[in-house]
Amino acid sequence: MFDLSGRVILITGASRGIGRAVALEVARAGSDVVLHHRANAARCEQLRGEIAKLGAEARIVSGDVANPEDIGRFVRTAGDWKGRLDGLVTAAGLFRGDATPAVGPSDFSVVLRTDLEGTFRTVQASLPYLRKSVRPAVVTVSSVLGAHAASGGVAYQAAKAGVEQATRALALELAPRIRVNAVAPGYIRTDMNREGRADPRFAAAVANATPLGRWGEPDDVAPVVRYLLSLEADWVTGLVLGVDGGVPLR
Ligand code: NAD
Repeated sequence: MFDLSGRVILITGASRGIGRAVALEVARAGSDVVLHHRANAARCEQLRGEIAKLGAEARIVSGDVANPEDIGRFVRTAGDWKGRLDGLVTAAGLFRGDATPAVGPSDFSVVLRTDLEGTFRTVQASLPYLRKSVRPAVVTVSSVLGAHAASGGVAYQAAKAGVEQATRALALELAPRIRVNAVAPGYIRTDMNREGRADPRFAAAVANATPLGRWGEPDDVAPVVRYLLSLEADWVTGLVLGVDGGVPLR
């Protein structure tokens, strides 16, 4: 089930957190992996070693997803490696949770450029390589905050709402050749929220707001991404799949 043998999958933001867990998961499923990072080559080298032990190959690329030229360059390197991309997972992302009065002149646009335009430009640059695959699939990464409001972090929430609609629009435009789906994780324990989790009241409030009673882990998200990349999801496109412990149910 959910076998990815012989595939080549590019994962942005692969040095840590959800991207890293996805890289290991797809390698376990038999795929070769292109690991993208912005400035964490050492962690990607270590991850490449772990992937080699699973019997898969990894290639490392780097660049800023808020910079379309960088994206063009690292996607070319990724695609030229095996001459195609069978999958793309856009896990690179930036969280800012500031209340509105504290959002400075460039704070809003940097989140939109990274999370929303970065996702779109990465898909766009990958198209020539995805088109060379037999059954290509893209998985974008939204958030439970893409459809359910929280106090603070307006730019992040607007960007993730944009990722969800961009996912549906791309799914329609690229059908029937390329499937495009999103995962929308709930509260996942990663570096992104390490500072927030240091406050025990916040950590407990999140667990209490989650019907399944705990924070999520990157490994809760990775198998769902693997499913969306696999042939078992061959008739699934334009879906935003919550992986959130039931947060929206409340
Ligand atoms: P993380 O901070 O550990 O990982 C994010 C990665 O994106 C990092 O490796 C970071 O270097 C990279 N990145 C950020 N800006 C970049 C840029 N401009 N160029 C290139 N790389 C950049 O956090 P994570 O939780 O693993 O986040 C992965 C994705 O999941 C993000 O899109 C995030 O919004 C989303 N998400 C996370 C949560 C959560 O609770 N952790 C919930 C919902 C969605």
